[in-house]
Amino acid sequence: MADISTDIDLGAHLSGRIDGMRDALIALAQDLIRIPTLNPPGENYAAICDYLDRRLKASGFETQLIRATGAPGDSDRFPRWNIVARREGARAGDCVHFNSHTDVVEVGQGWTCDPFGGELRDGRIYGRGACDMKGGLATSIIAAEAFIAECPDFAGAIEISGTADEESGGYGGVAYLAEQGFFAPSRVQHVIIPEPLNKDRICLGHRGGWWAEIETKGEIAHGSMPFLGDCAIRHMGAVLDAFEETLFPAMAARYTEMPVVPDGARQSTMNINSVHGGQPEQSSDYTGLPAHCVPDSCRIVIDRRFLIEENVDSVRTEITELLEGLKATRPDFDYTLREINRVIPSMTDRAAPVVTTVGAAIRSVMGKDPTYVASPGSYDQKHIDRIGKLKNCIAYGPGVLELAHKPDEWIGVDDMLDSAKVMAHSLRTLLAP
Ligand SMILES: [Zn+2]
Repeated sequence: MADISTDIDLGAHLSGRIDGMRDALIALAQDLIRIPTLNPPGENYAAICDYLDRRLKASGFETQLIRATGAPGDSDRFPRWNIVARREGARAGDCVHFNSHTDVVEVGQGWTCDPFGGELRDGRIYGRGACDMKGGLATSIIAAEAFIAECPDFAGAIEISGTADEESGGYGGVAYLAEQGFFAPSRVQHVIIPEPLNKDRICLGHRGGWWAEIETKGEIAHGSMPFLGDCAIRHMGAVLDAFEETLFPAMAARYTEMPVVPDGARQSTMNINSVHGGQPEQSSDYTGLPAHCVPDSCRIVIDRRFLIEENVDSVRTEITELLEGLKATRPDFDYTLREINRVIPSMTDRAAPVVTTVGAAIRSVMGKDPTYVASPGSYDQKHIDRIGKLKNCIAYGPGVLELAHKPDEWIGVDDMLDSAKVMAHSLRTLLAP
């Protein structure tokens, strides 16, 4: 065990070095924001990987550029490029991996500044992706560079990845890399995902998700004689009634032990994402009247988020039983159910080394206890857990979660600096020479 006074010295040096990198951190975050990596469709992944490649090579990392060929969304026009950079230490030891997604969501309305300008104003950097999560990516790079400069004889290895498509499921990014073995426990032991969860919180995992399309069937007829047909929209009405009467109350009664924030997401929830029935909508400049038809099809897409105490098959069964119940009791009711996607919940143990290490670093850098949370929606931890089989993974990074995907999204420079210190102090613990 290190001498305590030396240890405090080292910690102070490391924090001081990071304070001295303030301008470099700002410039790096701005450069990343100025590359518009919009997803969909998945633009400029090659450009941002090329930028990171040059930056990380200059800091002594070995880099690999990996295209997720054949992954959903990958095409020659919009190739899914990823970068994995690795810096070996002086001797064998654990590997700490920082994974950030490089994609950002659409800009949307309501901006008062250039979404790809990276404007610095009053200690905040503005732009799409500033908070979610180019600020976090820049923070992890500065943390690693400061740590390497301060402890060049560290043990083990540091990896930094920039990955595609997190905002659309991560299949062209972390899922692809996990399938290629990049997160195998033999290669990586600790994973920190610098998503914007606030600088004093550790996110242990996320709820599960199950998406499906339900179609009710009817029979087309003239609208003046609906009794000669069968209205698919009325059948869907019966489905929605059954959801209100039985499914929503049943879900609201389930409460998870996971520390999900906000509190409303500690229950099972379901969003009805869309409803389509009957004739397609015409464009707004169409001046004709609708034809008189009984709709023979109605479709909804449901987005069911479930708890770690539930399992995905029972989530599916609960809805199938409700539909089968209608089939048994409602004349002419017929339906199809098509599963669209499923994501298992993920939850890292509070005693896992990456959790206790980052927790102690938050205490020493910020002088307060960390808060442990879980995310209502999923992020790339799902792939690291399910495909990579790596359970020692958290999300930890700067940024105010509620700003993600909003207009005038920003990241605080002081928050990035504090978070960089927490990351660098964590590296010092996990990769002690
Ligand atoms: Zn994100």
